[in-house]
Amino acid sequence: MVQALAVQDEASLVGERCLHAFHSVAKLSDRLSKVKLMPRRPELIIEQARERIERIHEALSEIDYLCSGTLLERMKVCGKPGCRCAQDPDARHGPYYEWGHMKGGKLVHRTVSPEQAAVLRRAIANYRQARKLMQAWEDETERLIDAEAPRKS
Ligand SMILES: [Zn+2]
Repeated sequence: MVQALAVQDEASLVGERCLHAFHSVAKLSDRLSKVKLMPRRPELIIEQARERIERIHEALSEIDYLCSGTLLERMKVCGKPGCRCAQDPDARHGPYYEWGHMKGGKLVHRTVSPEQAAVLRRAIANYRQARKLMQAWEDETERLIDAEAPRKS
């Protein structure tokens, strides 16, 4: 917190680009408690950003299955006369799995087997992870754009 405030004071003196750096640091420090001040030397910023992008590549290359959407798990009442499922929630049938995802701009729902659901669960978790990595990649690229070709004004 003290560090972040120090950066903010400095940023208000130096202007817009440092303010931007402050926002990045503040955002990072939400996730990582031991975040240090961003280095001011462009070569260091560039080196660090490239190392982070390298790690993002490695993490992305380890992802195999990738699915968007959501997996719904539900228990069903069959409606057969005399079946206990009508009275007893614990006697309901299932679980049944339904996967909803966007395909060709449309939301599609399909039923999947328990085995497929297990794979999907992993694939959906991978998708979320990939999205986070892509966002980090974007952030590092923006850092590179600012450090490699700073705006002159
Ligand atoms: Zn039943």
